[in-house]
Amino acid sequence: MSEVAVNLREIRCRIESACARVGRSPGDVCLVAVSKTFGVDAVREAALAGQVAFGESRLQEAEPKITEAGPGLSWHFIGSIQRNKVRRILGCCRVLHSVDSLRLARHIATVAEELRVKPQVFLQVNLGEETSKGGFKAGEVSQALNEIVSLPTLEVLGLMTIPPVEEDEVASRGWFRQLRELRDDIVRTSGVKLPCLSMGMSGDFEVAVEEGATHVRVGSAIFGTRSYRVDGELG
Ligand SMILES: *Cc1c(COP(=O)(O)O)cnc(C)c1O
Repeated sequence: MSEVAVNLREIRCRIESACARVGRSPGDVCLVAVSKTFGVDAVREAALAGQVAFGESRLQEAEPKITEAGPGLSWHFIGSIQRNKVRRILGCCRVLHSVDSLRLARHIATVAEELRVKPQVFLQVNLGEETSKGGFKAGEVSQALNEIVSLPTLEVLGLMTIPPVEEDEVASRGWFRQLRELRDDIVRTSGVKLPCLSMGMSGDFEVAVEEGATHVRVGSAIFGTRSYRVDGELG
């Protein structure tokens, strides 16, 4: 068995245990294998081990990899989205985790209409209000959603966050809980459906699952340490 296959098996196991601890069903958690900086061979190894959902954060890198990997996989875009790349991103990814402004959401909706596609989107929330990260402030999400849910070419799945890096589990848990509570508040007050929460990475996906994550974005724990940084941000 390849190392990637072994890692995947262990991570699925840890997701199952986290689900069991809080009475959730493992089928409700989508493991997104973040293959950024790794080549198509790594993607193929993961696919052979049954992995279907993959995440990429840079279009230039993702496009050729997605073409080479071939059909049958589901690609998620998790990096910051430039307006001038939306058309190409929609050409290769069906789920966008990082919609970070109302203006961008409108633009994606317009391009999606032209391309006759209906992307699934998450609104990215910058809970820590870090200047290095994009996203809506927690207090802005509800109002933006009022308009975004009315855009017929977008399917809004829910909220996504990349919380500040924390030393301990208690602090990470606090951010994840905050995203879930924000979602619950919005659902209660506005009636929109927001079934999904994209949160948790290699270092903290179990805590995220315990707090309600439906999508965990796990890279290095599957593919190994990345040898270069992406976007000057997460790496
Ligand atoms: C790189 C990246 C991940 C995966 O990070 P790991 O720590 O390698 O699991 C998750 N989400 C986003 C947005 C990323 O850019």
